[in-house]
Amino acid sequence: MENKSPKGVRLVNITKIYQDPKTKKDFAAVDNVSLDIAPGSFVTLLGPSGCGKTTTLRMIAGFESPDDGQIFLGDDAINELTPNKRDTAMVFQSYALLPHYNVFDNIAYGLKLRKLPKDEIKKKVMDMLELVELSGMEERMTNQLSGGQQQRVALARALVMQPGVLLFDEPLSNLDAKLRVTMRTEIRKIQQKLGITAIYVTHDQAEAMSISDEIILMNKGKIAQKGTPQEIYYKPKSEFVADFIGEVNFLEGTVKSSEGENCVVDVNGTEIKAESYGDLKNGDKCKIVIRPESVELADTGAIGGEILISTFMGAYQYYQLKCGDTVLKIHDYNPRGHKIYQAGEKAYLSFENSTLHIL
Ligand code: ATP
Repeated sequence: MENKSPKGVRLVNITKIYQDPKTKKDFAAVDNVSLDIAPGSFVTLLGPSGCGKTTTLRMIAGFESPDDGQIFLGDDAINELTPNKRDTAMVFQSYALLPHYNVFDNIAYGLKLRKLPKDEIKKKVMDMLELVELSGMEERMTNQLSGGQQQRVALARALVMQPGVLLFDEPLSNLDAKLRVTMRTEIRKIQQKLGITAIYVTHDQAEAMSISDEIILMNKGKIAQKGTPQEIYYKPKSEFVADFIGEVNFLEGTVKSSEGENCVVDVNGTEIKAESYGDLKNGDKCKIVIRPESVELADTGAIGGEILISTFMGAYQYYQLKCGDTVLKIHDYNPRGHKIYQAGEKAYLSFENSTLHIL
């Protein structure tokens, strides 16, 4: 498939108001969201149920219109365009295939509406079938396909239109866990091969981490943080972000000194140096973000307590360590050859300061 230039997407102060059917009160499902998505990037809208990710995607597709704000595709303002006039294509959770059409005709449908010559349609559809690894299945009816194959047809049908932006609304949620992992890798591979811009809605953080150039984590209609998977994981901007992505521990402390991003925190008389976002002042209460895999246990140290739980998980030894009022979760990877602490024993934390982050 020849490549068309991918387009960027820009949202400027987008708000969508809905009425709560129960209380009859208006609320902002999407609340003054501004956002820049680079051409050719794979961006995921991630967040808990009801945070506004699908509404945001549907406004970009044109299935909903914002109550306020502007949407740009490339340089064009598209608020007033109907979905079929926008240079976007959507892959739905339900696949939304045409049941009485075979695979070929499902993929060809949009091209026929555009009145492309027959030969060109055939070439494009065959190229697509090859790309999604369904060559030879063009005559099958869609009800003779597995869920994964139906989702590939849905992907091919969207891609064949060569949209400037490809939109995905939880496309893998109807598939079993193993197939989800395979399909997400394939979607990412195809997106990179074609260099197309993709915006992908999911509430599955592992899916978002593995597939995205950037994650936009939403909460209650607003953007909680936008960044690469590494930025979101290692440098969360809030407790909400740290907690939503992966497992996390928080150790409470008081800021002793803060210079730019370099912060020194007092935790029960022990000084810990780590990075912060630079907006903390001396004396502020703060929290140290500790990922369970970034600490190990040792016989001596400054911060420690009693082991409450010690469980072998195969890839790692899982511990719960009671430090004062806090119970820390610790994953000791490759425990073979490490000292294994048992419940009831005393142990201390051992860590590199560079793996910590202060909120
Ligand atoms: P999920 O992961 O559950 O699909 P989401 O983040 O995609 O959630 P949205 O579908 O964007 O969330 O919905 C955001 C909020 O708007 C929710 O509180 C939802 O109940 C509400 N909502 C969505 N569509 C409508 C509608 N047509 N009328 C009223 N409220 C709506």
